[in-house]
Amino acid sequence: MQIKPREEILNRINKRKRHFVRKRKYAQAFLDAGMPQEYQALLNCEETQALVCCSHCGKSWYVTNRCRKRVCPLCSFRVAKERGNYLKALTARMKYPKFLTLTMPLWENNPQEGIKYLRQSFNKMRRHKLFSKVVGGSYMIELKIKPTGYHIHMHIMMDCPFLPYQKVFSAWKSLVGSDCPQIFIEAVKSEKAKEYVAKYASKASDFDSGPDVVVKWYLAVKGQRLFTTFGKWYNAKMEDLDAEYEVFIPESKCPYCEQMQTVFFARDGPFIFGHDEWIIIRSFICKEGYEVIDIPEIRDAINSEVTGNQVSLNLE
Ligand SMILES: [Zn+2]
Ligand SMILES: [Zn+2]
Repeated sequence: MQIKPREEILNRINKRKRHFVRKRKYAQAFLDAGMPQEYQALLNCEETQALVCCSHCGKSWYVTNRCRKRVCPLCSFRVAKERGNYLKALTARMKYPKFLTLTMPLWENNPQEGIKYLRQSFNKMRRHKLFSKVVGGSYMIELKIKPTGYHIHMHIMMDCPFLPYQKVFSAWKSLVGSDCPQIFIEAVKSEKAKEYVAKYASKASDFDSGPDVVVKWYLAVKGQRLFTTFGKWYNAKMEDLDAEYEVFIPESKCPYCEQMQTVFFARDGPFIFGHDEWIIIRSFICKEGYEVIDIPEIRDAINSEVTGNQVSLNLE
């Protein structure tokens, strides 16, 4: 809730400056595409603080603003890390870790429909007897933009004693069409699994980066679930991580009154309480006027021309 010591913030920025710079480039791409809301959300992410309030004790304070967008280099990294930790804990207990990649023919229509189609096909595949021994798993959908369409494929991680390649391939081909490219099945030994999981977990943010395709990619996957856990692996928190909208309460416990689930973003006030009611309630619980404030140290550090340790030297 309190802003961290200056030095700590600066060290953190120095290490990640290039990601901030990339985030700003992406923000600009959204502005150029006529999408000012996405521009602002990306620009504000981790460079500003947002006002939060507790409806129980009426205290308000600021927390780091995060955009939670998949295209955000900072947010997608954080999500990948959290997801990676969860999957690592799961795979450590897996008997027969298998990684399966399912591909589709080049998709030339609406990419959102393509993602849905892939998901539906996989759900059918899961009911196939080949998958009867699978107790749980997770999958990640990847979409790459190509000149004439989209390459959409899926990485599945699951615990399964035996997957005969030829049979899995035939079953998949009969679902998605005969011009389906190869599929991949890999059994991973436990020592190797750790590395693999880390790579796998960061996949969702692995779009063909570059400001030129970032808007196109964003629109192609917008509102679509790309990461899912299933069977015994199902985890609601991991599912929420994939949602781009604000589904979580900024702090599950109020640091002042210790009440659970009473903390919310001031900007969500009108949606939670209703527009007119919020005007009245706000004056009681939000003493501060601004819903977003700058973190000058961060903006200065990113705006400066120097990099690395020089930044902290210049500002100290
Ligand atoms: Zn409180
Ligand atoms: Zn962000």
